[in-house]
Amino acid sequence: MVKERLQRVRDQIRSAAEGCGRDPGKIQLVAVSKTVPADRVQQAIEAGASVLGENYIQEAREKHHLLSHQPISWHFIGHLQSNKAKYAVKIFELIHSVDRLKLARELDKQAGKIDKVQPVLIQVNIAEEETKSGIRAADLMALIREAAGLKHLSIRGLMTMPPYFDDPEAARPFFSALRQLRDRIQEEQIPNVGMTELSMGMTGDFSTAIEEGATLVRIGTAIFGERS
Ligand SMILES: *Cc1c(COP(=O)(O)O)cnc(C)c1O
Repeated sequence: MVKERLQRVRDQIRSAAEGCGRDPGKIQLVAVSKTVPADRVQQAIEAGASVLGENYIQEAREKHHLLSHQPISWHFIGHLQSNKAKYAVKIFELIHSVDRLKLARELDKQAGKIDKVQPVLIQVNIAEEETKSGIRAADLMALIREAAGLKHLSIRGLMTMPPYFDDPEAARPFFSALRQLRDRIQEEQIPNVGMTELSMGMTGDFSTAIEEGATLVRIGTAIFGERS
């Protein structure tokens, strides 16, 4: 079941990429396993999932412990409280959701303690929704300039979560806006800031996100089914 679903998602990623002339190999699938029990996550790993996305630190710590012998990498995609940074740097290869200087500084400090340079993305709240995390586009450049000076952080790109729409076409302007922000930051050539990654697209809209340049798609429901 998980295996077939995962294969279908892979096929859809490939056809979206090929449909717009992109190399499917440049798009990484993050299997979003929040609320999914470890035994079902294990099925996805056996079916070839190599990157897991988790939203909650406590849940991620438990699963990371249960699945520690597995050849997978863990990404954090949820809202991160600064006081959980010390756990996050131990588990996650990429943190998609840095959206404020206080958090960036704490991650830098905790990564330094374990002698790590922590790769991160900056989460942007493009639609400026009250209920969502993420920095406003207008404040993005200032955050990046400050965070660029932190020795134990490595900024790799941007992440966004557009408002929910039934029609994925409605999300397109938000994806395209994130890509344009990325391009603008790239032009600044800020030392210690890479802008290769664009994390955007979920179950309902990942094909559109790929057409707009996504390099990481975060997909849960289409792989694991509806969350209870
Ligand atoms: C839950 C979640 C996803 C996955 O959503 P689906 O619609 O189940 O694919 C992606 N990104 C973030 C930030 C999430 O919280």
